[in-house]
Amino acid sequence: MSIIELVDLKKVYMGNHVALDGVSMTIPHSTVFGLLGPNGAGKSTIINILAGVVKRSEGIAKIFGKTIEHDDYIHKKDIGFVLEDPHYLEKLTATEYLHFCGALYELKSTDIKERVNELLTFFDLKGRATSQIETYSNGMKKKVSLAAALIHQPKLLILDEPLEGIDPTSAKQIKDTLRLMADRGVTVVLSSHNLDTVEKFCDEVAIIHKGKLVFQTKTEEIRIKI
Ligand code: ADP
Ligand code: ADP
Repeated sequence: MSIIELVDLKKVYMGNHVALDGVSMTIPHSTVFGLLGPNGAGKSTIINILAGVVKRSEGIAKIFGKTIEHDDYIHKKDIGFVLEDPHYLEKLTATEYLHFCGALYELKSTDIKERVNELLTFFDLKGRATSQIETYSNGMKKKVSLAAALIHQPKLLILDEPLEGIDPTSAKQIKDTLRLMADRGVTVVLSSHNLDTVEKFCDEVAIIHKGKLVFQTKTEEIRIKI
């Protein structure tokens, strides 16, 4: 079963900038799937369309078989997003931010408390949980974003450059978490401009270049095709 389906997806930003030039692909259930391509290829645009923060110009984007419409948050109950430039509230502490996210998903407050505690422990954030997020390192901020994306135990996780600009320890924690999620049957979709990251980590890869899908392949075959 495919979890994500794109059909001839196009995005033209203001000023006639073509960011996606007809991308079609399907992302299967229970894989770790990489969107690989250089900066400017269109990876974030795909992810932002899936997240509903950018509106597609043409084509179809479906998640769980349902078409994504702008401002349609219904399908998001089963999805966790980590966008590249998270606009979370930096004046909040990690504890406050995670409580806020739990409330957005309408979780019960006792469940939120337990879940926040579990996530802060899991990501080694407890020591700084009552400091404002703006004082955190990039790695810690990424972990807070990931914790927020996991708060409602989604079936699908979509992450934009989750390992970019962070320290090796945080990167390892994030990779281990994503692997653990995948082993539990969560579908993980991530973007990267780093072949090594994708090759070591993903089961399947789509190469994106200049707004087009160049090819999609199982990771073990990637070196043959590049
Ligand atoms: P990637 O994530 O692969 O680096 P993006 O999806 O961010 O690629 O960008 C694809 C192209 O669209 C780039 O040329 C980028 O400059 C352009 N672009 C991205 N966002 C905007 C925007 N809000 N307005 C105009 N152009 C944009
Ligand atoms: P188990 O496999 O028995 O759940 P883990 O060490 O994987 O043990 O997890 C310990 C606790 O942390 C569990 O309560 C689990 O739900 C939670 N947990 C584990 N991984 C994550 C994660 N990536 N995000 C959120 N909670 C997690």
